[in-house]
Amino acid sequence: MNKGLYLHIPFCYRKCPFCDYYSISNAPETWLDTFTDVIVYQLRQLPTKLDTLYVGGGTPLVLGQSRWERILQNLPEARERTIELNPEDVKKENFPLLAHFTRLSVGVQSFSDSVLKTLGRDKLDYEKLLDLLSHWDVSVDLMVGVPGQTRDEVLRDLISVVALGVPHISVYPLEVHEGTPFWGYYRGWDWDDADLLLMVEKFLTEHGYEHYEISNYARPGHQCLHNKIYWHDEEYYALGPSAAGYVNGVRYKWVSNLRLYVESAKLGEPTYEEYVALSWEEQLSEYAIMNLRLLSEGIRKEDVEKRFGERAWGIILSQAEGNAFLNIEPNKITVKNWLFFNRAAEAFV
Ligand code: SF4
Repeated sequence: MNKGLYLHIPFCYRKCPFCDYYSISNAPETWLDTFTDVIVYQLRQLPTKLDTLYVGGGTPLVLGQSRWERILQNLPEARERTIELNPEDVKKENFPLLAHFTRLSVGVQSFSDSVLKTLGRDKLDYEKLLDLLSHWDVSVDLMVGVPGQTRDEVLRDLISVVALGVPHISVYPLEVHEGTPFWGYYRGWDWDDADLLLMVEKFLTEHGYEHYEISNYARPGHQCLHNKIYWHDEEYYALGPSAAGYVNGVRYKWVSNLRLYVESAKLGEPTYEEYVALSWEEQLSEYAIMNLRLLSEGIRKEDVEKRFGERAWGIILSQAEGNAFLNIEPNKITVKNWLFFNRAAEAFV
C-alpha cells in the first residue's frame, strides 16, 4: 500500500472572496516562524521515506525562502513531491526552492480578465506557464460556473492549456460557501450546467486527456499519484491546521485554528477536530465510495479481496445491486454517468 503526506500551509497573501479553506492572510512574521518550528518538530516524528507528498494551502510560498529551507531539510523523501503555486509565485527567484519538488499544481483558475476579476485572482501569463512546463510536471486548476463567465471563455481556457501542453488539468465548478464574501453576493447561485461540464470532458478527451477522476484529466503517465492515494483509500499523514489524514484505520482532522494547533503541538497534546477509528464495515464503505471516483478503474474485485478478504466483494455486490447509476461487472463496479456520482455512491453509504 502506498503512503503519503499532506502538509497544509495555512497562510495566504490575501483572502480570495470565494475561498472557504482554512487560511490566514497577512499573518505576522512571528506566526510564520512559530508555525514553521512546530511543523519541523512534527515532521521529525514521521517516517523519513514515503511514496508521495503534497504541500497545499493556503499559499505555501508565503512562508518564504529561509523557513522553507528548514522545512525542506525535514521533509520525507518521496518519488512524487507536489507543491501548490499561485500565479504571483511564478517567478525565477522561486525556482531553486521549487526544484525540490517534482510536480507543481498551479491555481490558474482562468485566463480571462473578467473571470479573474470576479474571483479576485491574479493572472498567469502564458510565457511563465511555459517556463514551468519546461522544468516540471505541471497541473493547472481551472474554475467553471463563475458568475458572468461565458461558454466561450471556458473554451478559450481549455484551448490555451491544451495548446501549451499542460499534462494534468483539474476542472472545478465554483461552489458558493456560507461565510465567504461570495455568499453575500451570490448566495443561492444555482449553477448546474451539465452541458458545460460535458463540453469540457469532450474537448479534453478529444485532445488526448484521460478523464480519470470526476474533476481530473491527465495525459498518459501524468495522473497525480498523491491524489490516487486518497481515491484508492490508502494511507496518508496530515500536518497543519485543518489538514485531514488517514492512518491505521483512523481518519483524523487537525483543528482549524492556528493558535490551538501550535499550542497543543508544543504541549505534545494534539488537538483534532475529528478523530474516528473506523470499523471494518465503515472502512469498506469508504473504500468503495473513494474508488468509485476513479471513473474507469472503479471498485475492483481483486483489490477489494486483497485488502478486506474474500467475503467483502459479496457485500459490495449486494450493496450495489439495484442502483441504476452503477455499472456492475463480475470483477468491477464503475459509475455509469459521472455527473450522477452522488446517486451512484449512495449504494455504499
Ligand atoms: S483560494 Fe487559495 S490563495 Fe485564495 S484564499 Fe483560498 S487558499 Fe488562499
